[in-house]
Amino acid sequence: MRLEENISLKQYTTFGCNETGRYFTNIKKTEEVIEAITWCKEKQLPYLVLGTGSNILFTKPFEGLILKMGIIGINKTNETATEVFLSVGAGENWHHFVSYCVQKGWGGIENLSLIPGTVGASPIQNIGAYGVEVQESIESVTALDTQTNHWVTLSNSECTFGYRNSLFKKEKNRYLITAVQFILKKQPQLRTEYGSIKEILHEKNIKNPSLADLSNAIVQIRTSKLPDPSQLGNAGSFFKNPSLSKTNFEELKNNFPELIAYPISDDTYKLAAGWLIENCGWKGARKGNVGCYDKQSLVIVNYGQATGKEIYDFSEEIIQSVLTKFNIVLEREVNIL
Ligand SMILES: Cc1cc2nc3c(=O)[nH]c(=O)nc-3n(C[C@H](O)[C@H](O)[C@H](O)COP(=O)(O)OP(=O)(O)OC[C@H]3O[C@@H](n4cnc5c(N)ncnc54)[C@H](O)[C@@H]3O)c2cc1C
Repeated sequence: MRLEENISLKQYTTFGCNETGRYFTNIKKTEEVIEAITWCKEKQLPYLVLGTGSNILFTKPFEGLILKMGIIGINKTNETATEVFLSVGAGENWHHFVSYCVQKGWGGIENLSLIPGTVGASPIQNIGAYGVEVQESIESVTALDTQTNHWVTLSNSECTFGYRNSLFKKEKNRYLITAVQFILKKQPQLRTEYGSIKEILHEKNIKNPSLADLSNAIVQIRTSKLPDPSQLGNAGSFFKNPSLSKTNFEELKNNFPELIAYPISDDTYKLAAGWLIENCGWKGARKGNVGCYDKQSLVIVNYGQATGKEIYDFSEEIIQSVLTKFNIVLEREVNIL
């Protein structure tokens, strides 16, 4: 194992904060995972797997070993008349994998085009966008269970996926994912119901979109709405959309008729956290090096020199003002360290 010491994590996270990592190693093979974890256990040090750092905020130096996940490879393991089975290395770039599938004509994950990150991180928070979640295409996840030191293959149901949630978030840092198995469709049913997708397809006069048309439309929407982390540090949506019981939703709607929400079951509603934040006056607001993005108030941005602590404190102020005005506690989507 090649170890680096006291490295700056600035280039390893999309927030671009200059916190340090005590030890750092690149992981290219599964054998190296065992070596790294054994080393941490011997030294009694914490470990952290890092993909591209697009959903993480370091608020202080990390005093353990960072394993930069670099296991790559896309392998077709099986195929039927209607489906394709793939096993993909955890370090594979997510958008590269989506583009590969789109080009082959295999559907299921095209709505998740251009989400930053690695394949191995995709099940962690069950990435989702434009009406689709990755859990719909995951067959199983291969990981080292660092509690038992055994390799496990967890089925889709064992991963207990939920909205931006999974077993891997609930049992934080227990499972070190090295590969994800996907099932993709050869004759996919395209999901174009989102208003902005429909608009773009209409503008381009595309009546029967292909997988590539849909993926391109999503890339276009995302590029116009979200800040590019290479230009402006951010981690996408900082907060989750909160859910509310029907009764509480109706009460809130009475007080705030403009409230944006949609039903997710007979008695539960999901509220647009962006709307709540915007209505507390945060959209486009800036405090020193940190701000709330002017085109999407769910996104907190680093104007260049912000520390992780400054970003965290800014998010805390947002949480407090949403609580004061709406009596709703926003939960952070980004992993805080
Ligand atoms: C501009 C922008 C837009 C975004 N849009 C979306 C979106 O539309 N939908 C969405 O769901 N997310 C979105 N995100 C968030 C982010 O892209 C995803 O959460 C992504 O899956 C994170 O991948 P990563 O490799 O960067 O993970 P990291 O940030 O490196 O890690 C995230 C967490 O997963 C753990 N982890 C990573 N890899 C492994 C592994 N192999 N084994 C075990 N644990 C691991 C880490 O320890 C950490 O706790 C966006 C982010 C940005 C910057």
